[in-house]
Amino acid sequence: MGFEFATAARILFGEGVLGQVAAAAAGMGQRALVVTGASPERAAPLVRQLESAAIHCSPFPVAGEPTVDLVRGGAEYARRERCDLVVAMGGGSALDAGKALAAMLANAGDPLDYLEVIGRGQPLAHASVPFIAIPTTAGTGTEVTRNAVLASPEHRVKASLRSPSMLPRLAVVDPELTYDLPRPITASTGLDALTQLIEPYTSVRANPMTDVFCVEGIRRAAWALPRAWKNGGDSEARAGMAWASLLGGLCLANAGLGAVHGFAAPVGGMFPAPHGAVCAALLPYVMEVNVRALAARQPGRTAVLRYGEIARLLTGRPQATADHGVRWVKDLCRRLEIPTLRAYGVRETDIPDLVAKAAGASSMKGNPLVLTTEELREIISRAL
Ligand SMILES: [Zn+2]
Repeated sequence: MGFEFATAARILFGEGVLGQVAAAAAGMGQRALVVTGASPERAAPLVRQLESAAIHCSPFPVAGEPTVDLVRGGAEYARRERCDLVVAMGGGSALDAGKALAAMLANAGDPLDYLEVIGRGQPLAHASVPFIAIPTTAGTGTEVTRNAVLASPEHRVKASLRSPSMLPRLAVVDPELTYDLPRPITASTGLDALTQLIEPYTSVRANPMTDVFCVEGIRRAAWALPRAWKNGGDSEARAGMAWASLLGGLCLANAGLGAVHGFAAPVGGMFPAPHGAVCAALLPYVMEVNVRALAARQPGRTAVLRYGEIARLLTGRPQATADHGVRWVKDLCRRLEIPTLRAYGVRETDIPDLVAKAAGASSMKGNPLVLTTEELREIISRAL
Protein backbone atom coordinates (compact mmCIF):
# COMPACT_ATOMS: atom_id res chain seq x y z
CA MET A 1 0.00 0.00 0.00
CA GLY A 2 1.42 3.38 -0.97
CA PHE A 3 0.12 6.76 -2.01
CA GLU A 4 0.70 10.48 -2.02
CA PHE A 5 -1.82 12.97 -0.72
CA ALA A 6 -1.60 16.76 -0.83
CA THR A 7 -4.08 19.48 -0.02
CA ALA A 8 -4.44 23.10 1.08
CA ALA A 9 -2.08 24.04 3.90
CA ARG A 10 -5.00 24.91 6.17
CA ILE A 11 -8.77 24.32 5.98
CA LEU A 12 -11.37 26.20 8.02
CA PHE A 13 -14.84 24.62 7.86
CA GLY A 14 -18.11 25.59 9.52
CA GLU A 15 -20.88 28.16 9.83
CA GLY A 16 -19.37 31.60 10.35
CA VAL A 17 -15.72 30.77 9.61
CA LEU A 18 -15.71 33.60 7.03
CA GLY A 19 -15.17 35.87 10.03
CA GLN A 20 -11.77 34.27 10.65
CA VAL A 21 -10.20 35.08 7.28
CA ALA A 22 -8.34 38.25 8.25
CA ALA A 23 -6.79 36.67 11.34
CA ALA A 24 -5.75 33.62 9.34
CA ALA A 25 -4.31 35.83 6.58
CA ALA A 26 -1.97 37.62 8.97
CA GLY A 27 1.57 37.33 7.72
CA MET A 28 0.58 36.14 4.24
CA GLY A 29 0.75 39.56 2.57
CA GLN A 30 -0.07 43.25 2.80
CA ARG A 31 -1.76 43.90 -0.53
CA ALA A 32 -4.55 41.54 -1.55
CA LEU A 33 -6.03 41.06 -4.98
CA VAL A 34 -9.66 40.31 -4.08
CA VAL A 35 -11.19 38.18 -6.84
CA THR A 36 -14.97 37.87 -6.78
CA GLY A 37 -17.83 36.85 -9.05
CA ALA A 38 -19.77 39.38 -11.10
CA SER A 39 -21.26 41.02 -7.96
CA PRO A 40 -18.30 42.21 -5.87
CA GLU A 41 -20.63 43.72 -3.25
CA ARG A 42 -21.16 40.22 -1.86
CA ALA A 43 -17.53 40.36 -0.70
CA ALA A 44 -17.92 43.75 1.02
CA PRO A 45 -17.86 42.27 4.56
CA LEU A 46 -14.70 40.34 3.64
CA VAL A 47 -13.02 43.48 2.27
CA ARG A 48 -13.93 45.45 5.44
CA GLN A 49 -12.48 42.64 7.54
CA LEU A 50 -9.22 42.54 5.57
CA GLU A 51 -8.83 46.32 5.54
CA SER A 52 -9.38 46.55 9.29
CA ALA A 53 -6.44 44.13 9.57
CA ALA A 54 -4.36 46.62 7.51
CA ILE A 55 -4.48 44.50 4.33
CA HIS A 56 -4.97 46.75 1.29
CA CYS A 57 -7.59 45.35 -1.14
CA SER A 58 -7.60 45.68 -4.94
CA PRO A 59 -10.94 44.40 -6.31
CA PHE A 60 -11.04 42.14 -9.36
CA PRO A 61 -14.57 40.98 -10.31
CA VAL A 62 -14.85 38.08 -12.75
CA ALA A 63 -18.03 37.72 -14.82
CA GLY A 64 -18.31 34.19 -16.18
CA GLU A 65 -15.72 31.44 -16.47
CA PRO A 66 -12.09 32.64 -16.60
CA THR A 67 -10.30 32.85 -19.93
CA VAL A 68 -6.62 33.04 -20.83
CA ASP A 69 -7.10 36.73 -21.71
CA LEU A 70 -8.74 37.48 -18.36
CA VAL A 71 -5.81 35.95 -16.47
CA ARG A 72 -3.30 37.79 -18.68
CA GLY A 73 -5.03 41.14 -17.98
CA GLY A 74 -5.64 40.35 -14.30
CA ALA A 75 -1.97 39.51 -13.72
CA GLU A 76 -0.94 42.87 -15.24
CA TYR A 77 -3.43 44.68 -13.01
CA ALA A 78 -2.27 42.78 -9.90
CA ARG A 79 1.39 43.60 -10.67
CA ARG A 80 0.53 47.30 -11.09
CA GLU A 81 -1.29 47.16 -7.74
CA ARG A 82 1.78 45.42 -6.22
CA CYS A 83 -0.39 42.59 -4.83
CA ASP A 84 1.44 39.96 -2.78
CA LEU A 85 -1.63 37.91 -1.79
CA VAL A 86 -4.73 36.70 -3.66
CA VAL A 87 -8.07 36.18 -1.90
CA ALA A 88 -10.85 34.73 -4.05
CA MET A 89 -14.47 34.48 -2.93
CA GLY A 90 -17.14 33.09 -5.23
CA GLY A 91 -18.06 30.08 -7.34
CA GLY A 92 -15.59 27.90 -9.21
CA SER A 93 -14.96 30.60 -11.82
CA ALA A 94 -13.81 33.24 -9.32
CA LEU A 95 -11.76 30.69 -7.40
CA ASP A 96 -10.05 29.31 -10.50
CA ALA A 97 -9.33 32.84 -11.72
CA GLY A 98 -7.79 33.68 -8.34
CA LYS A 99 -5.75 30.50 -8.29
CA ALA A 100 -4.40 31.15 -11.80
CA LEU A 101 -3.60 34.77 -10.90
CA ALA A 102 -1.73 33.71 -7.74
CA ALA A 103 0.40 31.44 -9.96
CA MET A 104 0.98 34.06 -12.67
CA LEU A 105 1.94 36.70 -10.08
CA ALA A 106 4.89 34.52 -9.07
CA ASN A 107 5.89 33.41 -12.57
CA ALA A 108 6.99 35.59 -15.48
CA GLY A 109 5.58 35.07 -18.96
CA ASP A 110 2.19 34.29 -20.43
CA PRO A 111 -0.47 31.80 -19.19
CA LEU A 112 -0.03 29.91 -22.50
CA ASP A 113 3.58 29.12 -21.53
CA TYR A 114 2.23 26.93 -18.74
CA LEU A 115 -1.22 25.79 -19.91
CA GLU A 116 -1.85 22.08 -20.64
CA VAL A 117 -3.23 20.81 -23.98
CA ILE A 118 -3.36 24.16 -25.84
CA GLY A 119 -0.27 25.84 -24.35
CA ARG A 120 3.39 24.89 -24.00
CA GLY A 121 2.75 23.05 -20.72
CA GLN A 122 5.98 24.24 -19.10
CA PRO A 123 6.20 23.59 -15.35
CA LEU A 124 5.64 26.64 -13.14
CA ALA A 125 9.11 27.44 -11.77
CA HIS A 126 7.95 29.35 -8.69
CA ALA A 127 5.34 28.63 -6.04
CA SER A 128 2.19 30.79 -6.26
CA VAL A 129 1.88 33.86 -4.04
CA PRO A 130 -0.26 32.98 -0.98
CA PHE A 131 -3.80 32.18 -2.12
CA ILE A 132 -6.95 32.08 0.02
CA ALA A 133 -10.01 30.35 -1.50
CA ILE A 134 -13.53 30.97 -0.16
CA PRO A 135 -16.21 29.02 -2.09
CA THR A 136 -19.79 30.36 -2.19
CA THR A 137 -21.19 27.29 -3.99
CA ALA A 138 -21.03 23.65 -2.91
CA GLY A 139 -19.66 21.84 -5.93
CA THR A 140 -16.27 22.51 -7.43
CA GLY A 141 -13.98 21.71 -4.49
CA THR A 142 -11.45 23.97 -6.19
CA GLU A 143 -10.48 25.38 -2.77
CA VAL A 144 -8.36 22.26 -2.28
CA THR A 145 -7.19 21.43 -5.80
CA ARG A 146 -3.93 22.22 -7.57
CA ASN A 147 -5.32 23.25 -10.95
CA ALA A 148 -7.20 26.17 -12.44
CA VAL A 149 -9.42 25.59 -15.48
CA LEU A 150 -9.18 28.34 -18.10
CA ALA A 151 -11.17 28.70 -21.29
CA SER A 152 -9.54 29.65 -24.56
CA PRO A 153 -12.31 30.89 -26.85
CA GLU A 154 -10.06 30.79 -29.93
CA HIS A 155 -9.22 27.11 -29.31
CA ARG A 156 -12.81 26.41 -28.21
CA VAL A 157 -11.60 24.25 -25.34
CA LYS A 158 -10.82 24.47 -21.63
CA ALA A 159 -7.44 23.51 -20.23
CA SER A 160 -5.70 23.60 -16.87
CA LEU A 161 -2.83 25.42 -15.29
CA ARG A 162 -1.58 22.79 -12.88
CA SER A 163 1.12 22.53 -10.27
CA PRO A 164 1.42 21.15 -6.73
CA SER A 165 2.53 24.67 -5.77
CA MET A 166 -0.90 26.04 -6.78
CA LEU A 167 -2.63 24.43 -3.78
CA PRO A 168 -4.27 27.21 -1.74
CA ARG A 169 -2.57 28.35 1.45
CA LEU A 170 -5.97 28.55 3.12
CA ALA A 171 -9.41 27.13 2.22
CA VAL A 172 -12.38 28.71 4.02
CA VAL A 173 -15.55 26.64 3.63
CA ASP A 174 -18.49 28.41 5.26
CA PRO A 175 -21.82 26.69 4.48
CA GLU A 176 -23.72 29.93 5.32
CA LEU A 177 -22.40 31.39 2.06
CA THR A 178 -24.46 28.81 0.13
CA TYR A 179 -27.83 29.41 1.85
CA ASP A 180 -29.15 31.76 -0.85
CA LEU A 181 -28.00 29.78 -3.90
CA PRO A 182 -30.87 29.48 -6.40
CA ARG A 183 -32.19 26.00 -7.18
CA PRO A 184 -30.59 25.49 -10.61
CA ILE A 185 -27.14 26.35 -9.18
CA THR A 186 -27.70 24.10 -6.15
CA ALA A 187 -28.59 21.31 -8.60
CA SER A 188 -25.74 21.72 -11.09
CA THR A 189 -22.96 22.44 -8.59
CA GLY A 190 -24.25 19.67 -6.31
CA LEU A 191 -24.16 17.14 -9.12
CA ASP A 192 -20.64 18.32 -9.97
CA ALA A 193 -19.70 17.52 -6.36
CA LEU A 194 -21.29 14.07 -6.64
CA THR A 195 -19.45 13.46 -9.94
CA GLN A 196 -16.19 14.52 -8.31
CA LEU A 197 -16.72 11.82 -5.68
CA ILE A 198 -17.84 9.04 -8.03
CA GLU A 199 -15.08 9.57 -10.63
CA PRO A 200 -12.12 9.55 -8.19
CA TYR A 201 -13.60 6.44 -6.49
CA THR A 202 -13.53 4.53 -9.78
CA SER A 203 -10.38 6.24 -11.13
CA VAL A 204 -7.32 4.21 -12.08
CA ARG A 205 -5.47 6.47 -9.63
CA ALA A 206 -7.79 5.89 -6.63
CA ASN A 207 -5.88 5.42 -3.37
CA PRO A 208 -6.80 4.23 0.15
CA MET A 209 -6.97 7.77 1.51
CA THR A 210 -9.18 9.21 -1.23
CA ASP A 211 -11.37 6.07 -1.02
CA VAL A 212 -12.30 6.95 2.56
CA PHE A 213 -13.26 10.48 1.55
CA CYS A 214 -15.20 9.30 -1.52
CA VAL A 215 -17.32 6.86 0.47
CA GLU A 216 -18.19 9.48 3.09
CA GLY A 217 -18.82 12.14 0.43
CA ILE A 218 -21.07 10.00 -1.80
CA ARG A 219 -23.20 8.94 1.16
CA ARG A 220 -23.43 12.54 2.39
CA ALA A 221 -24.25 14.06 -1.00
CA ALA A 222 -26.92 11.42 -1.70
CA TRP A 223 -28.69 12.49 1.47
CA ALA A 224 -28.05 16.24 1.40
CA LEU A 225 -28.44 17.25 -2.26
CA PRO A 226 -32.18 16.51 -2.68
CA ARG A 227 -32.84 18.22 0.67
CA ALA A 228 -30.78 21.34 -0.10
CA TRP A 229 -32.51 21.59 -3.48
CA LYS A 230 -35.99 21.30 -1.97
CA ASN A 231 -35.31 23.76 0.85
CA GLY A 232 -32.31 26.07 0.42
CA GLY A 233 -32.64 27.20 4.04
CA ASP A 234 -32.02 23.66 5.38
CA SER A 235 -28.76 24.40 7.17
CA GLU A 236 -27.98 20.74 7.85
CA ALA A 237 -28.32 19.87 4.17
CA ARG A 238 -26.27 22.92 3.10
CA ALA A 239 -23.49 21.93 5.52
CA GLY A 240 -23.70 18.37 4.18
CA MET A 241 -23.20 19.60 0.61
CA ALA A 242 -20.34 21.94 1.61
CA TRP A 243 -18.66 18.95 3.26
CA ALA A 244 -19.30 16.66 0.26
CA SER A 245 -17.95 19.31 -2.10
CA LEU A 246 -14.78 19.75 -0.04
CA LEU A 247 -14.31 15.96 0.01
CA GLY A 248 -14.75 15.86 -3.77
CA GLY A 249 -11.97 18.43 -4.15
CA LEU A 250 -9.65 16.41 -1.89
CA CYS A 251 -10.38 13.29 -3.94
CA LEU A 252 -10.10 14.68 -7.46
CA ALA A 253 -6.85 16.50 -6.69
CA ASN A 254 -5.24 13.26 -5.53
CA ALA A 255 -6.96 10.52 -7.55
CA GLY A 256 -8.02 12.19 -10.81
CA LEU A 257 -11.39 12.07 -12.55
CA GLY A 258 -12.89 10.25 -15.56
CA ALA A 259 -14.97 10.46 -18.71
CA VAL A 260 -17.55 12.95 -17.38
CA HIS A 261 -14.82 15.54 -16.89
CA GLY A 262 -13.09 14.35 -20.05
CA PHE A 263 -16.20 15.51 -21.95
CA ALA A 264 -16.82 18.56 -19.74
CA ALA A 265 -13.61 20.23 -20.98
CA PRO A 266 -14.54 20.36 -24.68
CA VAL A 267 -18.31 20.84 -24.12
CA GLY A 268 -17.59 23.78 -21.79
CA GLY A 269 -15.04 25.15 -24.25
CA MET A 270 -17.35 24.99 -27.27
CA PHE A 271 -20.67 25.98 -25.66
CA PRO A 272 -21.72 28.54 -23.06
CA ALA A 273 -22.75 25.88 -20.55
CA PRO A 274 -21.92 25.95 -16.83
CA HIS A 275 -19.49 23.21 -15.81
CA GLY A 276 -21.76 21.63 -13.21
CA ALA A 277 -24.71 21.42 -15.60
CA VAL A 278 -22.54 19.69 -18.21
CA CYS A 279 -21.29 17.15 -15.68
CA ALA A 280 -24.81 16.52 -14.42
CA ALA A 281 -26.12 15.84 -17.95
CA LEU A 282 -23.30 13.37 -18.65
CA LEU A 283 -22.98 11.52 -15.33
CA PRO A 284 -25.69 8.82 -15.67
CA TYR A 285 -24.59 7.86 -19.20
CA VAL A 286 -20.88 7.71 -18.33
CA MET A 287 -21.76 5.48 -15.37
CA GLU A 288 -23.94 3.26 -17.53
CA VAL A 289 -21.40 2.84 -20.34
CA ASN A 290 -18.51 2.33 -17.90
CA VAL A 291 -20.44 -0.33 -15.97
CA ARG A 292 -21.30 -2.20 -19.18
CA ALA A 293 -17.77 -1.93 -20.61
CA LEU A 294 -16.16 -3.03 -17.34
CA ALA A 295 -18.50 -6.02 -17.03
CA ALA A 296 -17.57 -7.08 -20.56
CA ARG A 297 -13.83 -6.39 -20.56
CA GLN A 298 -12.70 -6.47 -16.89
CA PRO A 299 -15.23 -8.68 -15.06
CA GLY A 300 -14.46 -9.11 -11.37
CA ARG A 301 -11.94 -6.27 -11.28
CA THR A 302 -12.08 -3.63 -8.55
CA ALA A 303 -13.77 -0.94 -10.66
CA VAL A 304 -16.81 -3.16 -11.38
CA LEU A 305 -17.27 -3.84 -7.68
CA ARG A 306 -16.89 -0.16 -6.90
CA TYR A 307 -19.91 0.75 -9.02
CA GLY A 308 -21.91 -1.70 -6.88
CA GLU A 309 -20.59 -0.02 -3.73
CA ILE A 310 -21.55 3.41 -5.14
CA ALA A 311 -25.08 2.13 -5.75
CA ARG A 312 -25.37 0.96 -2.15
CA LEU A 313 -24.10 4.32 -0.85
CA LEU A 314 -26.53 6.25 -3.08
CA THR A 315 -29.62 4.17 -2.45
CA GLY A 316 -28.90 3.08 1.13
CA ARG A 317 -29.98 -0.43 0.09
CA PRO A 318 -27.56 -3.27 0.87
CA GLN A 319 -28.78 -5.32 -2.13
CA ALA A 320 -28.38 -2.55 -4.70
CA THR A 321 -26.35 -3.34 -7.82
CA ALA A 322 -24.43 -1.04 -10.17
CA ASP A 323 -27.52 -0.69 -12.39
CA HIS A 324 -29.56 0.56 -9.44
CA GLY A 325 -26.92 3.27 -8.91
CA VAL A 326 -27.22 4.40 -12.52
CA ARG A 327 -31.00 4.53 -12.20
CA TRP A 328 -30.77 6.47 -8.93
CA VAL A 329 -28.57 9.14 -10.57
CA LYS A 330 -30.87 9.36 -13.63
CA ASP A 331 -33.83 9.81 -11.32
CA LEU A 332 -32.01 12.48 -9.28
CA CYS A 333 -31.17 14.44 -12.46
CA ARG A 334 -34.85 14.32 -13.42
CA ARG A 335 -36.02 15.44 -9.95
CA LEU A 336 -33.50 18.29 -9.90
CA GLU A 337 -34.62 19.38 -13.40
CA ILE A 338 -31.18 19.00 -15.01
CA PRO A 339 -31.42 20.07 -18.68
CA THR A 340 -29.88 17.96 -21.43
CA LEU A 341 -26.84 19.24 -23.36
CA ARG A 342 -29.15 20.22 -26.23
CA ALA A 343 -30.35 23.10 -24.04
CA TYR A 344 -26.87 24.64 -24.38
CA GLY A 345 -26.77 24.30 -28.15
CA VAL A 346 -24.95 20.96 -28.52
CA ARG A 347 -26.13 19.15 -31.68
CA GLU A 348 -25.55 15.74 -33.32
CA THR A 349 -23.16 17.40 -35.81
CA ASP A 350 -20.84 18.36 -32.90
CA ILE A 351 -20.40 14.76 -31.75
CA PRO A 352 -17.30 13.79 -33.79
CA ASP A 353 -15.42 16.91 -32.67
CA LEU A 354 -16.44 16.46 -29.02
CA VAL A 355 -15.46 12.77 -29.04
CA ALA A 356 -12.03 13.54 -30.53
CA LYS A 357 -11.35 16.32 -28.03
CA ALA A 358 -12.66 14.33 -25.04
CA ALA A 359 -10.41 11.37 -25.91
CA GLY A 360 -7.39 13.66 -25.52
CA ALA A 361 -8.57 15.50 -22.37
CA SER A 362 -6.42 15.11 -19.25
CA SER A 363 -9.35 13.92 -17.07
CA MET A 364 -10.05 11.00 -19.44
CA LYS A 365 -6.82 9.34 -18.24
CA GLY A 366 -8.49 8.60 -14.87
CA ASN A 367 -11.45 6.70 -16.38
CA PRO A 368 -11.48 3.10 -15.05
CA LEU A 369 -10.93 1.77 -18.58
CA VAL A 370 -10.20 3.16 -22.03
CA LEU A 371 -13.51 3.67 -23.81
CA THR A 372 -13.81 3.07 -27.55
CA THR A 373 -14.79 5.85 -29.95
CA GLU A 374 -18.17 4.12 -30.30
CA GLU A 375 -18.70 4.16 -26.53
CA LEU A 376 -17.72 7.82 -26.28
CA ARG A 377 -20.13 8.61 -29.10
CA GLU A 378 -22.90 6.76 -27.30
CA ILE A 379 -22.34 8.74 -24.07
CA ILE A 380 -22.51 12.14 -25.70
CA SER A 381 -25.43 11.36 -27.98
CA ARG A 382 -27.49 10.05 -25.08
CA ALA A 383 -26.71 13.19 -23.03
CA LEU A 384 -28.14 15.43 -25.79
ZN1 LIG B 1 -16.24 19.17 -11.99
